[in-house]
Amino acid sequence: MQIRVLGCSGGIAKGVATTSFLIDDDILIDAGTGVCDLTLKEMQSIRHIFITHSHLDHIASIPLLTDTLFDRLIGNPLTVHTQRSTIKVMREHVFNWAIWPDFTVLPHKTNAVLKLKGMKAGETIDIDGRSIEMIMVNHSVPGVGYRVESKGKSFAFSGDTASNENLWVCLNKHDHLDLLFVESAFANKDEELARVAFHYCPESLARDLPKLKHRPEVFISHLKPGEEKAIMKECKKAMPDWNLHRLKSGDVFKL
Ligand SMILES: [Zn+2]
Ligand SMILES: [Zn+2]
Repeated sequence: MQIRVLGCSGGIAKGVATTSFLIDDDILIDAGTGVCDLTLKEMQSIRHIFITHSHLDHIASIPLLTDTLFDRLIGNPLTVHTQRSTIKVMREHVFNWAIWPDFTVLPHKTNAVLKLKGMKAGETIDIDGRSIEMIMVNHSVPGVGYRVESKGKSFAFSGDTASNENLWVCLNKHDHLDLLFVESAFANKDEELARVAFHYCPESLARDLPKLKHRPEVFISHLKPGEEKAIMKECKKAMPDWNLHRLKSGDVFKL
């Protein structure tokens, strides 16, 4: 399994994009602005998108990707997997003809180019040998993370979350975890803001990470632009026993 980081930031700037990870060449986890890093040819290979939650920084590229690939998707639709509550939000607020056309009925509802498929937390879907498990987390809107396993190797992504038990309990049910992407969106000085916005900061992540029984390499994502170095310094200080790194756009992992 290959994981390519297309974007992993809390914001945008030149060379900085929001969350999207490409698994092998056909599955996206989240579809933030990082998708713009793909060539048209690479975009054409994408068949499935697993979404963590409805916030714009995680779904921004879905409408434009669908439009860009429209002709090629007729008879070969793109499938978005996410919680039913997230589908409802996307239907009401994005694919509502006002913000963007409803591609779930285009060119016709019998052969639409976009499928929005409901998935439940705890459910695992297998796509050509990659098993993808949805894990409920704790964000300001219904949010999930994912654990992906292929050929005995595994990686997990927290999605956007504040302190919670379920992510760690679900990861501990398995006998291994090789790689973990977990967010720490804010620095400790913004701990109150992190609490209200349902994100981790280094101190709150340091309280939760020891709940994990595995010892994967840990990469921190969703850093606030301009504060990356400060947040990583606080993370390393708060979690000295862990193999911590900053996740960056362009990183490629082979498991
Ligand atoms: Zn969010
Ligand atoms: Zn986010």
